[in-house]
Amino acid sequence: MNVTGKAPLAGVMGWPVEHSRSPMLHRYWLKHYEIDGAYIPLPVPPESLKAALQTLPLLGFAGVNLTAPHKEAALTIVDEADLLSKRIGAVNTVTVQPDGTLKATNTDGFGFLENLQSGAPNWHANLGPAVVIGAGGAARAIVVALLDHGVGEVRVVNRTKKRAAALVSALGSSIKAHAWGSLADALADASLLINATTLGMNGKPSLELDLEKLPTQAVVTDIVYSPLETPLLRAARARGNLTVDGLGMLLHQARPGFRMWFGEREKGDDVDPQVTTELRAYVSKDLGR
Ligand code: NAP
Repeated sequence: MNVTGKAPLAGVMGWPVEHSRSPMLHRYWLKHYEIDGAYIPLPVPPESLKAALQTLPLLGFAGVNLTAPHKEAALTIVDEADLLSKRIGAVNTVTVQPDGTLKATNTDGFGFLENLQSGAPNWHANLGPAVVIGAGGAARAIVVALLDHGVGEVRVVNRTKKRAAALVSALGSSIKAHAWGSLADALADASLLINATTLGMNGKPSLELDLEKLPTQAVVTDIVYSPLETPLLRAARARGNLTVDGLGMLLHQARPGFRMWFGEREKGDDVDPQVTTELRAYVSKDLGR
C-alpha cells in the first residue's frame, strides 16, 4: 500500500522501542485490509514523554500505543484516562480526539481475556480461583480483567510482598495476597494459573514451581511470549494441563487501537482486525529470529 497525504498516522512510544512487534503487527493489518495508514516506532526517552504526547495532535497523529517504561507516566499526562486504566494504574493506548485532547485506555486485560477465551474456550470464571503470579503492570491489568469477568477469587503471589499488598488494597477484597514461599500451596483447587512475571523470558531465569497441587483440569497461561513455550507451559502440558501461550495477548491487545485509528471507514463497514493463524505464524516467525 502507498501511504498518501491523507493517511492516519499512529505509532508506539517506548524507550527503547526497537524490540516492539507493534509496527509489524499494525502494518500487517493495514496491508491485509488495504487501509491507507502508517504505524511507526517512536523512540521517546522518559524525560520527553510529555512533550512527545502533546505534539501528537500538532503532527496529525490519530494516536499511539505506549510500551515500557511509559505506561504509568502517560496516565498522568493525558487529558482523559478511562476508569479501567485508572484502576490498572497504567495506559497503553492513546487516541487524539477531534478537539486535539488525548484520551487513554488500557487494552492489556482485553488482550489477555480474548487470548484465554480463544485458547481455552471451556474455561469459565465460575470454575474456581485464579492464581496470578506477579504484581507488576501486566499483572494488574489481568487481575482487573479477571474480576470484571466474574472470577470470585484471585490469588496474587509476588516476590515483593509490598507490591502484592498494594495491588490488593487498590483492587479489593476478592483478591488474596499469598507469600512467594507458599506459591505451590496457592495452586490447590485453582481453575487458572497465570505467569505475569518476567520469569521464563529468554535471558531471564525460569519460574521454578512445583505444580503438584494444581488440578490437571486447570488452564495454565504465560504472558511471556518469547519463547512461545516457556518452561512453565512445557511442565504444565507434560502433566496434562491445557496451556495457552502469551502471543495471542500481544496480538489481541492491539485490536482496539487499530480499530479506533484506522478502522473507521466512510462507507460504515468498520474494520475489526482479526487475530488469525496466519498473523500468529507471521509474528512468531519474527520472534524466532
Ligand atoms: P513489571 O511491571 O516490571 O513487573 C515484573 C514482575 O515480574 C513483577 O511482579 C516482579 O516481581 C516479577 N519478577 C521479576 N523478576 C523476578 C524474579 N527474579 N523472581 C520473581 N519475580 C520476578 O513488568 P510487566 O509490564 O508487568 O511485564 C511482565 C511480563 O509480561 C514481561 O515479560 C512482559 O514482556 C510481559 N508482557 C506480555 C504482554 C503480552 O501481550 N503477552 C503484555 C504485557 C507484558 P517484583 O515485584 O518482586 O519485582
